[in-house]
Amino acid sequence: MKSRDTDVVIIGAGAAGLATALHAHSRRVLVLAPGAPAGTASDLAQGGIAAAVGPGDSVEQHLKDTMIAGQPAVDANAATYLCDEGPSAIRWLATLGVPFAREGDHWSLHREAAHSCARVLHVGGAATGAAVMNALRRASAASNHIEFASGLRAVQLLRDRDGVGGVLVHDTTGEPLAVRARAVVIATGGIGGLYARTTNPLGACGDGLAMALAAGARGAALEFVQFHPTALDVESQPLPLITEALRGAGARLIDDTGALVMDAIPGGDLAPRDVVARAVHAAQQRRRRVRLDARRLRDGTVSALFPEIARRCLSFGIDPDREPIPVTPAAHYHMGGVAVDLDGRSSLPGLWAVGEAACNGVHGANRLASNSLLEAIVFGRRLGAGLARTPLRPLPGNGDLQIEPHASPAGVVSSEVRALMWRAAGVVRDGVTLARGLATLVNLERQVGRADCLGRARLLLVRRILEAALARTENCGAHWRSDARSGVLAETA
Ligand SMILES: Cc1cc2nc3c(=O)[nH]c(=O)nc-3n(C[C@H](O)[C@H](O)[C@H](O)COP(=O)(O)OP(=O)(O)OC[C@H]3O[C@@H](n4cnc5c(N)ncnc54)[C@H](O)[C@@H]3O)c2cc1C
Repeated sequence: MKSRDTDVVIIGAGAAGLATALHAHSRRVLVLAPGAPAGTASDLAQGGIAAAVGPGDSVEQHLKDTMIAGQPAVDANAATYLCDEGPSAIRWLATLGVPFAREGDHWSLHREAAHSCARVLHVGGAATGAAVMNALRRASAASNHIEFASGLRAVQLLRDRDGVGGVLVHDTTGEPLAVRARAVVIATGGIGGLYARTTNPLGACGDGLAMALAAGARGAALEFVQFHPTALDVESQPLPLITEALRGAGARLIDDTGALVMDAIPGGDLAPRDVVARAVHAAQQRRRRVRLDARRLRDGTVSALFPEIARRCLSFGIDPDREPIPVTPAAHYHMGGVAVDLDGRSSLPGLWAVGEAACNGVHGANRLASNSLLEAIVFGRRLGAGLARTPLRPLPGNGDLQIEPHASPAGVVSSEVRALMWRAAGVVRDGVTLARGLATLVNLERQVGRADCLGRARLLLVRRILEAALARTENCGAHWRSDARSGVLAETA
């Protein structure tokens, strides 16, 4: 088998992976990505990036909002670091050329759900993620210490005697390559691709987290998955997002009898994301199709105020100025991940993780909107700087690594797995369905060949998520059990 070596290999070329790479400047860094059409969530981020940079805002207030949103599971040290470092992360992105919108001498700031003031920086309305990624890609391409290897999918972490010393990758033809490294960084993003309905890019199947668990690393908070309440309900993969801002502008959720879905629920259409997602889910359980009625916005039409959303709806034959938009909840963000400390260090020597694939507890049980791009940048910078100055393990020899000789290329996540996750670990869970899901999983596990190491790792991840959701019998943040020992579902059921 072909092999090559590097100081640091970063699996994933989203905002977290690139921020890490840029700061690890004293090392030879190899960044892996499968390339199109897998894509990154970072490029899709629309709303923006939160940081306490506004005149009436403070780091303390940002921290308070972050702690309230994620309660009770937020790691206070992680959240404090995130909010403290927010303004300097924004200045860094601006120096890289991210053209954040301005109003006179100040940043232009949006207000989003559960933020106590306007705090969300943005570019061109809904193009923030793409602008951040363009700047990071430009800077990475100009950095001599970074090499990109596109068209390579990581399929297995390579263990050595006491930790991780590399990664096995396949190119687009299935040709394997062993990459030996002194540090392996997981930056593979979220797990939405494991669900039947998701806003995440096709490639977001939790691969890095799955490989880390298979290698024996600890995971954390795996049961905490945030569902966006209003993805466009059409035949598409992923589902396009219909921004909360539409409800902010006066759009209302209705069912197919015309009844207002959020009428009797505190907060109405602007209630927190998980509350709205459960209400839409409950209406769907009653066999109602839910739509977002944006025909009478306060200050104009969808096509005038949200041209990008209008364009997206029209591409599916829906004219949002004339008809209500069909919507559904969809898996959107994973608060859980590879358990890491604030430096990104996992439980295995040589293995690090960052961004959505990692969990340092910063989002607790529920992420505050627009805190995740910030997390990817802030903790990517910290991890990269740490890798640049911390002594790394010596490079393993080829003979030190446990390499699966016949590892086969990974297939796509099957529709059965995605349906199982949607059914058992979706918006509302219960013990019986979770236990049945685990029983079904046993059959799926039998069907995966021994050589399909990534396929087996993905099913291990599915198993761990179902087990974590089964074990947590109370309602907590985005994790909601209809059979919870405590907590009330009555108002949305
Ligand atoms: C539609 C949408 C809108 C969003 N809007 C916002 C927003 O407005 N503000 C906000 O803060 N957050 C938002 N989020 C969340 C945010 O975008 C993500 O949490 C964040 O960008 C994750 O960054 P990341 O670098 O960890 O992962 P990603 O950007 O997803 O990058 C993951 C990388 O890993 C690669 N990869 C995956 N598997 C493998 C493998 N096996 N081998 C090699 N490479 C692999 C992928 O190809 C990709 O390059 C949004 C998410 C979505 C889906």
